Amino acid sequence: MAYIEFDATSPHYARTPPHERLGVVVHHSVLSFRDTIARMLDPTSKVSYHVLVDDDGTRCTLVPDDCLAWHAGESTFLGRSRTNEFLLGLAFAGDTYRTPLTDAQIASALEWIAPRWELYRWSLDRLTDHRQISPGRKDDLNPVEWQRFLAAATRRFGSPRTAV
Ligand SMILES: [Zn+2]
Repeated sequence: MAYIEFDATSPHYARTPPHERLGVVVHHSVLSFRDTIARMLDPTSKVSYHVLVDDDGTRCTLVPDDCLAWHAGESTFLGRSRTNEFLLGLAFAGDTYRTPLTDAQIASALEWIAPRWELYRWSLDRLTDHRQISPGRKDDLNPVEWQRFLAAATRRFGSPRTAV
């Protein structure tokens, strides 16, 4: 099914350097969907995700894919720092330590990822979460919920692009 998607462009983004779109880092926002959007639009917050997913699957686009959003902070992935320059930021509204992801949240996130998966030729190892790229500094997602998300992504997108 197609989930509702709307835009609420955050002022917190950069057009340069051009975003490399090498993969996705998954977050949870702790706050509710509404409160997270308000924070992203607050001129003083200096934080943003590319997309935020509510518990009913509704998505809010906050920053265009070709711009840098400010979500990862100090982090390392693929042997590189400055991950905001090459990872898109997808956040689930809420706190995955308090409330599990809903099935709709997971399905909606995969729906958002699917066209990009093809366009940018991603593989499963291009999906990560904030806890893994900022170890000891960030704890999102709850590892149990990360595994649920990764299992769903694996079912949808299959094995990594390797020769058979
Ligand atoms: Zn995070």
